Amino acid sequence: MEDCVFCKIIKGELLSTKLYEDNDFVIIKDINPTAKVHLLAIPKNHVPYIDMMTEEGASYLGKIMLKISKMQEELGITEGFRLVINQGENAGQTVEHVHIHILGGEKLKEM
Ligand code: AMP
Ligand code: ZN
Repeated sequence: MEDCVFCKIIKGELLSTKLYEDNDFVIIKDINPTAKVHLLAIPKNHVPYIDMMTEEGASYLGKIMLKISKMQEELGITEGFRLVINQGENAGQTVEHVHIHILGGEKLKEM
């Protein structure tokens, strides 16, 4: 999508710190970290909200989570991590392109 920040990052039109990329998703550093390690796993396909995802897209999100769990060393989250998806206004979603927050690198506050 033309005006989407994450689509611009994926296309290389906007600068980001990329830690990982394959055909289907990227992992970048969050520009405004709320934990020592704060990354975003962003599927390349533009879907604004998880409730708009297809079954296939949703099962792909599961695969991304599995991949993250196998990349703990590279991502600096070996002592534990938290995965978060914000959906909609009450959750504070600010970018309308589904993404998974990866938080770790320190003892996280209780939710
Ligand atoms: P959410 O509030 O769940 O929609 O999360 C959006 C996240 O994207 C926030 O944590 C922002 O700090 C992050 N963000 C916004 N723009 C950028 C950018 N250009 N590069 C990296 N992270 C970004
Ligand atoms: Zn997008």
